[in-house]
Amino acid sequence: MTASESWERIKFFAARGAFPHCALLAAPAELQLQAAADLAAMLLCEAGSGKDECAACRAWSNGNHPDLITGGEPGKPPTIGDCREIIRDIAYKPAVSSKRCALIFSADLMQLPAANSLLKLAEEPPDHGIIIFTAADENRVLPTIRSRAWLLSLPDGGRSGEETAPPSTAEEWEKWTEKNSGLEFDEFLKQFDPWISRLAGSGDYDGAWRAERLKALLSTGRLSRTMAIDLTLLALKEGIDFEHLFGDFW
Ligand SMILES: [Zn+2]
Repeated sequence: MTASESWERIKFFAARGAFPHCALLAAPAELQLQAAADLAAMLLCEAGSGKDECAACRAWSNGNHPDLITGGEPGKPPTIGDCREIIRDIAYKPAVSSKRCALIFSADLMQLPAANSLLKLAEEPPDHGIIIFTAADENRVLPTIRSRAWLLSLPDGGRSGEETAPPSTAEEWEKWTEKNSGLEFDEFLKQFDPWISRLAGSGDYDGAWRAERLKALLSTGRLSRTMAIDLTLLALKEGIDFEHLFGDFW
């Protein structure tokens, strides 16, 4: 699992220290515990590796960490009482790390009141907070949570082989624009994962990074398709760093 391309991508973005505040890790139940723990270790680590000698890494003990909060377990989602504790605990200042991380397991199996109680947290975590939901089936996660979270899928789920590069020439981009003007938004978004894999795989890390951040922004659903297309052209065709254009949009 850790050798999968998705995992390499996740590591790459975690190490850059700008991991989004809310992510949804889609993985089979038997992978969730280890994957979520590995991810939390990277996110809490000062250097983003999760396995060095920094204070945050040294603070791990038997799978527990003073800045780690867990709710539920794979196959057993947190109750609404657990969710209230998570909301309270993540608000505390980090003890060792510069972050606090909440792992919320089996978000696809959560009761509606429990899931609803986490909406505000998913939308506006504290500045130091990172919320990681896990789910075996991301399509069963409450859409209002899913739309706020950066979707990370493990393992690649048979996506390999259909990796497509983004358009490269002006002409290709023009055709792409025309085609995408009539595409459903979900279909539009689906193009990004293969692009990101392809860009990262070919060593274009800046391009992969821009595409990843762009996807995260577009996944919030706050932009119209026309804006989404324009922004994609700016970011991937022109190579412009678009994030400063948005300021507080994140
Ligand atoms: Zn460390």
